[in-house]
Amino acid sequence: MLDYQATLDYIAEAVEPGFGKGKVADYIPALAEVPARKFGMAIQLASGERFSTGDAHEPFSIQSISKLFVLELAMSHFGDMVWTRVGKEPSGDRFNSMIKLEMEHGVPRNPFINPGALATLDLLMSLKGDAKHRIRNFLRYLAMNDKVDVDDVVMRSELGHASLNRAMAHLMKGYGNIHMDVEDLLETYCFQCAMAMSCEDLALAGLPLATGGYTEMHDSAVLSAAQAKRINAVMLTCGMYDSVGSFAYRVGLPAKSGVGGGILAVVPGTMSVAVWAPELDQFGNSYVGTMALEMFTKLTRTGIF
Ligand code: GLN
Repeated sequence: MLDYQATLDYIAEAVEPGFGKGKVADYIPALAEVPARKFGMAIQLASGERFSTGDAHEPFSIQSISKLFVLELAMSHFGDMVWTRVGKEPSGDRFNSMIKLEMEHGVPRNPFINPGALATLDLLMSLKGDAKHRIRNFLRYLAMNDKVDVDDVVMRSELGHASLNRAMAHLMKGYGNIHMDVEDLLETYCFQCAMAMSCEDLALAGLPLATGGYTEMHDSAVLSAAQAKRINAVMLTCGMYDSVGSFAYRVGLPAKSGVGGGILAVVPGTMSVAVWAPELDQFGNSYVGTMALEMFTKLTRTGIF
């Protein structure tokens, strides 16, 4: 069998020239404080084995990776009804762009751009009970770690700089695609984005997507096999925003990124892989994280193509 530990340790050294090429997100002031030279990577195999390297145990702001888990929650409660509120096509625009939103009558292209995540969360918030608790409990369950929690400093910082997201939410509300109070929605959205998890947490949390919704570690199925398949398809086509094509070309896996510098990728049938390196490329995806995943699929031959 391939020596996964040696492979990860090799990648942690081989990505070194990539540092300094990207830029830590600073439009959310608290994220600008994160040291640029962090690097962690973890894999969780369907067999239960796990391997990690570098800062893989250190929690960081998951940001848009949370959109994946909120979509899972929304799909598990509402099934295909989710697709009446958001599409499943790549947007070709930045994650926080509004340019198509008015032309397309307040229905966002997909659940992974900011307006799409807001619409998905709005649907989830229509359930009885506190959506924040629901999201936190789900992440703790998926990561099998009760210490998973929100980073309050990041949450407040983001809430204080949420003008674009607020504008999108109001525009969608004007078109009837947001039903909740916009301020409640924004607070819950900033909460989900400010959840802090490590690469090890994320790799375990992503495993059900690789294994048809069910793992031997979690007590009950997280998703149906059909839902897991569909979420992977949307990740592959929309998970890396407007660089989704070059990411598929270089890495060849369904993946979801966040501006905290994390990327969670899925090797269908086999494992999930999480990587963290805070400096971002021009599209808002981790520069070194993408490099690391490209090396990983090349060395392990796990790309799906
Ligand atoms: N919380 C961030 C925002 O709303 C999430 C963006 C991201 O991670 N791509 O801008």
